[in-house]
Amino acid sequence: MIYQLNADVRNFGKAISELSDVDIYACYQCGKCTAGCPIVMEMSHTPNQIMKLIQLGLKEEVLNSLTPWLCASCETCTTRCPKGVDIAKIMDTLRILARKEGYQSKEPNVVNFNDIFLNCIKNKGRLQETHLAMMYNLKTRQFFKDADIGQKLFMKGKISLTSDRIKGTDVMKNIFEKSRAFLGKGE
Ligand code: SF4
Ligand code: SF4
Repeated sequence: MIYQLNADVRNFGKAISELSDVDIYACYQCGKCTAGCPIVMEMSHTPNQIMKLIQLGLKEEVLNSLTPWLCASCETCTTRCPKGVDIAKIMDTLRILARKEGYQSKEPNVVNFNDIFLNCIKNKGRLQETHLAMMYNLKTRQFFKDADIGQKLFMKGKISLTSDRIKGTDVMKNIFEKSRAFLGKGE
């Protein structure tokens, strides 16, 4: 295992800095990240609030927050931060940590989408939109959600139901295995 989160809540901020390689204590609460975030109106905590909660070591509040799961990784916050704080990377780190430590996402469909997306890349070496939409709708029990548009696109030859794979999917699986090992999930 490459890293081990110190369970001591007082060390939460330090641990997030180490895991993300981002100095979370550089944040001085100017709010520019939040002002530019396109999803902020849906979030339970704004990006700058997440930064402050991490600095205060409030692990439970941070890892139970909806915010990291709604973050679209657009990196607007990172680009706007006058202190060079890579907040998008912090959000990535929080998602990884929340899953690693068994916190339940308040937005389970985001987790479902991420899992289906990554499994598709891992097994086929590329994303197949039809597969992604079908698997997501099945998993979230929205069986007829895209049936109308899907049928029209299929009839026009815009989508295919066949499953294309790249050559050498073993290489892709190897990348996933190494990533899991790096994150401490590997065998
Ligand atoms: S833009 Fe940077 S310094 Fe300002 S609140 Fe956001 S993270 Fe903190
Ligand atoms: S990366 Fe996430 S937190 Fe940052 S601006 Fe985009 S959606 Fe908001």
